[in-house]
Amino acid sequence: MRTIAVANQKGGVGKTTTAVNLATALAATGARVLLVDFDPQGNASTSFGLARSARSPSSYDLLTDPAQAARAARPTMVPDLALIPATQELAGAEVELVGEANATGRLRAALETLEGQDWCFIDCPPSLGLLTLNGLVAADRVLIPLQTEFYALEGLSQLLKTVEEVKARSNPRLDLAGVVLTMHDKRNNLSDQVANDVRSALGHRVFGTIIPRNVRLSEAPSHGMPALLYDLKCPGSEAYMALAREFAAAA
Ligand code: ATP
Ligand code: MG
Repeated sequence: MRTIAVANQKGGVGKTTTAVNLATALAATGARVLLVDFDPQGNASTSFGLARSARSPSSYDLLTDPAQAARAARPTMVPDLALIPATQELAGAEVELVGEANATGRLRAALETLEGQDWCFIDCPPSLGLLTLNGLVAADRVLIPLQTEFYALEGLSQLLKTVEEVKARSNPRLDLAGVVLTMHDKRNNLSDQVANDVRSALGHRVFGTIIPRNVRLSEAPSHGMPALLYDLKCPGSEAYMALAREFAAAA
């Protein structure tokens, strides 16, 4: 199983949209994919129409009992795509795990009990706290969504530094999968300028595929389904399918 943490401590940059739709696109190619909702907001779980009352056992439970991972993983409406949902309880874990043994290695220990998956995506919360650290320790690669707006690069160096620290201290496998530019508005010159700046700063580590700003991507979660099911032909879905091809070819 190749495990990808989708991370950026900035909020609202497209982490969840990317995790949900990239996972769906890869499952559509016949791969067996697991998506772990690792954000107490539970947006990835909502994106699959999973009622809050139906989210136990959740990604919180596997932090104290790794064996819960297999029970927490459940099928979604997408064939070959399983989901481990998140509940609000996960917010408590940021505090409860402090000072505990192996505080950053809990998710990894739980995922190691799973078999039969090709890919695992971890949808991280917008912080660099213990939850995101658990995501980075569990991952082989980190995928960073970056919104094409003026402040895009702010905070990125801190995130890259955290990735390097986790790699040096506890997870030598960890590498950057790449940066994916999201919510690109082709009618806005600034969007293009930011995309160019990011490319000159990060070069080949930026995926060629750019995710456009597309209202269908933001509507899909309210219908409880990934955009790829909600509207396969919309520009956002097409971009995520292109990203999946590029991503799988690079992996
Ligand atoms: P958070 O940090 O809160 O977890 P996030 O980084 O996971 O946020 P998303 O939830 O994926 O970001 O996206 C933020 C908002 O922008 C959501 O309402 C989402 O539907 C919308 N959105 C994401 N990508 C696009 C896009 N390409 N075009 C239009 N809307 C988008
Ligand atoms: Mg999110």
